[in-house]
Amino acid sequence: MVLGKDRLALAVANSLEVAEILLRQGALGEAGALFNRHFAGKPACIIADENTWKAAGAAVERALHSQGIRVRSHVLPASPKPKPSVELANDLAHNLKADDAIAVAVGSGVINDLVKYAAFSLGRAYLCVATAVSMDGYTSAGAPLSVRGFKKTLQCKPPVAVIADLDVLSHAPAAMTGWGYSDLAGKVAAGADWLLADALGIEAVDGECWGMVQDDLRHRLADPVSVKRGDVNALSGLFCGLAMVGFAMERHGSSRPASGADHQIAHLWEMEGLTHAQEPVSHGACVAIGTVSVVALYDFLLRSDILRLDVEAAVTAAPNFDAKIAVIRESLGAGELGERAIEESRAKHVEAEVLRQRLVRLLHVWPTVSNRLRQQLPALDELRGWLAAAGAPSRARDISVSRQHLHASILNARFLRSRYTVLDTLEETGLLAPAAQYAADIL
Ligand SMILES: [Zn+2]
Repeated sequence: MVLGKDRLALAVANSLEVAEILLRQGALGEAGALFNRHFAGKPACIIADENTWKAAGAAVERALHSQGIRVRSHVLPASPKPKPSVELANDLAHNLKADDAIAVAVGSGVINDLVKYAAFSLGRAYLCVATAVSMDGYTSAGAPLSVRGFKKTLQCKPPVAVIADLDVLSHAPAAMTGWGYSDLAGKVAAGADWLLADALGIEAVDGECWGMVQDDLRHRLADPVSVKRGDVNALSGLFCGLAMVGFAMERHGSSRPASGADHQIAHLWEMEGLTHAQEPVSHGACVAIGTVSVVALYDFLLRSDILRLDVEAAVTAAPNFDAKIAVIRESLGAGELGERAIEESRAKHVEAEVLRQRLVRLLHVWPTVSNRLRQQLPALDELRGWLAAAGAPSRARDISVSRQHLHASILNARFLRSRYTVLDTLEETGLLAPAAQYAADIL
């Protein structure tokens, strides 16, 4: 773990935005001193929900008071859960505007994303106190929020400092830690998509950003049982892994190091408002099933006889853009979601000649890239075993996704982002329909 923490310290030193991460037991007690190191003389506004207030908010308030800091707080109801929407973030910004307070976000994904956007919209820096190792957004510039129902990652700025008290994190609900584990596990699939895009000359792998996410990844995923148990060393490693993902996105200037088809499928479900046992399914839980879906799709692709692909037949069969628009309107509707999907799809649509060159290149690089993909990806059963041991969903039904729903989601997810992934490779080689059927049948 020392190695991981050293890498994290180096990433903080290299970050243009994040100046400090306190990752240790008892770190909450240092909140006042940390606040004064960055914002001496300013008042603080703690933003939490009722659950995160109990978990850490009250202790943060005491720590700030003890250093003579003026503190007010804004506690959102725990039920219904605060929604990650720009509309709610704007409400928080309005509240913050009442004085020159520095926001202290106390929470995990949703609270951090809302405050990140609210603070950014006012041009202010903020602090974050993590309450669960549940996602990779603590150190990232992006805030995934819905704008009139369409989920977008809005570019903001990460917090100036993050307090991650392992005593708090180890008491988070085990399911939330499972979401963080799933968000990190998704990087095996995201990495595979990047390798594929690189091999086809579409988007080159940046070695440094790749290493920040991928070098320690298998090590971080190796002990899901300890993660589920809330073991502080395991949580420290998981937090480091997720924080490094945020830094890799900052460095790359996009979410490519962190997000591929696994997140496209997950985002589709999040936008549909997927629920399980009357609760919205979390980002991490959606990513868990997005990731097993993508690993199943790669399984299908890697078993296919790509070298026998008839390039001319594939080019002839490829739909033109008008035909794609018709499919998008049919499957995603003509509203905001459908219109955005058309724009994203337009950005990656290629005409016949470019497609022909791409497929010829695929045949050429396939012996090498297929080996590289086999090294990158765990076997499907292995991945599902990891997720189950971490307390995360590993079957589609664990998040109330039926076979038909999964099949449709795999077919539609590629329209959501212009980013090239395995979904595009499968579509362009004529394999998407049978691959989606294969994944839906076994998941
Ligand atoms: Zn994620």
